[in-house]
Amino acid sequence: MTNLEGRVAVVTGGARGLGAAYTRALHAAGARVVIADLLHDEGTALATELGDGAVFEHLDVTSEDDWSRVVDSAIAAFGSLDVLVNNAGIANAAPIEHYTTAKWDAVIAVNLTGVFLGCRAVVPAMKRQASGSIINISSVEGLRGSPGLHGYTASKFGVRGLTKSLAVELGPAGIRVNSVHPGLILTDMTTRIDPEALSIPLGRPALPEDVAGTIVFLASDASAYTTGAEFVVDGGMTT
Ligand code: NAD
Repeated sequence: MTNLEGRVAVVTGGARGLGAAYTRALHAAGARVVIADLLHDEGTALATELGDGAVFEHLDVTSEDDWSRVVDSAIAAFGSLDVLVNNAGIANAAPIEHYTTAKWDAVIAVNLTGVFLGCRAVVPAMKRQASGSIINISSVEGLRGSPGLHGYTASKFGVRGLTKSLAVELGPAGIRVNSVHPGLILTDMTTRIDPEALSIPLGRPALPEDVAGTIVFLASDASAYTTGAEFVVDGGMTT
């Protein structure tokens, strides 16, 4: 049921970290994958490593023009667009008195407006084929608050909310929209967080591969009746 042969997926921020794990897992399940990222060298290296059925496309998720090009390229290369994983994201933190407008604008632009632009860009193609799965990467910070992460938390709550409105609107068109809420995953984004300072019932932080199975599930027919749902993948951290 999680066989993705014949499906085409775009993974934003797919060149490294969690996005690279999602790219590898979707490709291993049979999907053809567009690695859409700012990181040209890492993205082309991953596409070369995966070989057939993987291409790199430059994408800045805040650029409407980039989104049009990536959607057109995916369809030109592979014939359809079935899955969008809105994974690209950035983080910043500071006490509120020092949390500059520039910090706020940057994180909202990438993490929230970027997800909105991506969803809007893929919907016409998914409506034409009357099917599609959009997977929006939020965070446990889209479920609760943490000090200093003001813009990040607002963006991830926003992604969770956007997922709900889209799920309700697009369900009749055969398009499913779900959000994923990872806990502490060891990537470049989290090098300054001490896992020992957190209480994680499963006793360890996650590796990117620990989240990838949920992405494959949501991309596949195994989740055919699931939309508007929140998938918390945090080792029990927020329980
Ligand atoms: P990362 O920093 O390792 O990777 C982020 C990727 O996004 C990079 O490839 C980067 O080039 C890309 N990116 C950044 N800005 C972009 C833009 N404007 N356009 C296109 N691509 C852009 O981060 P990660 O830890 O792999 O996080 C991936 C996602 O998972 C993010 O949305 C993050 O908020 C979320 N998340 C991460 C964790 C964690 O513990 N690592 C936990 C919860 C949620």
